[in-house]
Amino acid sequence: MSQFYILTNNANVGKFLPTDDFNPEIMEQPFEMPTKYIIVTGGVLSGLGKGIAAASIGHLLASKLKIIPIKCDGYLNVDPGTMNPFEHGEVFVLDDGGEVDMDFGHYERFFGVTCKSKWNLTMGKVFDMVRKKERRGDYLGKTVQYIPHVTDVIKEHIFEVSREESADLLFVEIGGTVGDIENELFLESMRQMKEDVGRENILYVHLTYVPIPYGVSEQKSKPTQQSVNLLKQRGIFPDIIIGRCSEFLTKEIKTKISNFCDVHRDAVITGLDVEDIYEIPVIFEQEGLPEIIHKKLNIYSPPDLRKWKELVDNIRHPKNEITVAMCGKYTKLEDSYASIIESFNHCTAHLGCKINLKWVETTDLKDTSFMDDIHGIVVPGGFGVRGTEGKIKIIRLARERNIPFLGLCLGLQLAVIEFARNVCNLDGANSTEMDPDTPHPVIDILPEQKEISDKGGTMRLGAYSAVLKEGSLVRSLYGTEEASERHRHRYEVNPEHHSILTENGMVFSGTSRDGRLVEFIELPGLKYFVATQAHPELKSRMEKPAPLFFGFVTACLS
Ligand code: GLN
Repeated sequence: MSQFYILTNNANVGKFLPTDDFNPEIMEQPFEMPTKYIIVTGGVLSGLGKGIAAASIGHLLASKLKIIPIKCDGYLNVDPGTMNPFEHGEVFVLDDGGEVDMDFGHYERFFGVTCKSKWNLTMGKVFDMVRKKERRGDYLGKTVQYIPHVTDVIKEHIFEVSREESADLLFVEIGGTVGDIENELFLESMRQMKEDVGRENILYVHLTYVPIPYGVSEQKSKPTQQSVNLLKQRGIFPDIIIGRCSEFLTKEIKTKISNFCDVHRDAVITGLDVEDIYEIPVIFEQEGLPEIIHKKLNIYSPPDLRKWKELVDNIRHPKNEITVAMCGKYTKLEDSYASIIESFNHCTAHLGCKINLKWVETTDLKDTSFMDDIHGIVVPGGFGVRGTEGKIKIIRLARERNIPFLGLCLGLQLAVIEFARNVCNLDGANSTEMDPDTPHPVIDILPEQKEISDKGGTMRLGAYSAVLKEGSLVRSLYGTEEASERHRHRYEVNPEHHSILTENGMVFSGTSRDGRLVEFIELPGLKYFVATQAHPELKSRMEKPAPLFFGFVTACLS
């Protein structure tokens, strides 16, 4: 926790200021600030961008405070790792190997925190903890009940994270929409929390929807009123309401929401529809959100958005554009590839080049004429056999026509299969995931994976370091001797085929320290043919785009 001082002599009298420079003229002696809490809930509809709103608030307060985000999800899976990306969007992987909700991607990208899997609390995890406690005898003699036993487990978990991380400010985002049965226990815990931490240390933010119905041309507050009523029935009285709307909220609607929902007029904030999510912190600042939070929580952590605004400006006003084909099988739901899309946005922020993504469904792919009009090809991660032969066909054309290619995880595996079949002449080469009887299993299951039958949390997960080969393109892109990226896979380039691949010209530009695992490959002599067993998109940041994406876009531009 930082050193805090209480301001005594300027406009912010009485607020906690975290700083290393003590100025007796305007400050009192160091003070231990109690941890503050911001609880974010959502109403009316799902998909309004609660995660982005929470992450943007985090961005605005992170200059001086240590902020830790917690996300509560009402489903009974222990984590989203076993869910189809169609159901839940991308599974985000953390350094520690946690498979978590994609909102953690927003938190990491917006306020530079490296998250831990413990910070994603699902109802599946909660019930697991309660059941273990019951079996251990922690509740001997008692009837185990939703209140207080389940709600206590939720609150204890949150307070434990807060202590472990010495957080100045803890964000708790409650998934779903108020009124959903599956989130009731989380909301009840959040209601109780104000007694535990003190009303002055907790702030409730509610995100709702302000529609402008066709033909009415007027912003409507009724859905917000009803959603706030649902929240109040649960004993939660919001301090701040963010109204998602296609326009800035008018003075009139802010006053109306303020009157009906019992929040201060200045605490009704526009959550504007934007082209680019990175504009949201800028809008929130413009709407006066930081001041409201400072006032309500008695803190002072002013944002500095200068650099951020420059980058956002580059995204909004690109100088040129390229088209990149994304060849996958979850292409109907863009959320399945959220981090890849953001990695490209980060490149745009630095290169000023708009990147149009052309979504190519590779199941039953016959027509490859789209390749005539694109500047580069990405083959992202994936599981199972469907669509893989289409992707292999596309990779072959990319290699033969010298079109920039970036392969991510499955993308590396398929590039190796293509090279084995068509350059090394290993007919029928494949991954044992796609064809268990292949004569040339160039991609095979990791030996340590062979005995595992459980599917949840058992892949090779989390951050691993690779040693980068001197003189390789990958090494020059990272600019370091080693690179640490996050993984999520069961299969690997088969060590028995390493030599035939390298003898035919494939360069292993990064391997595990013992050389057994191939983490990066490249084909020299081509404009850009690079693939990795990892998911570098997970660590890309607005301030520092992932090196492999940056290199790829630069190659597409040339
Ligand atoms: N299905 C492959 C594996 O398990 C690739 C996984 C991925 O792309 N994330 O190894």
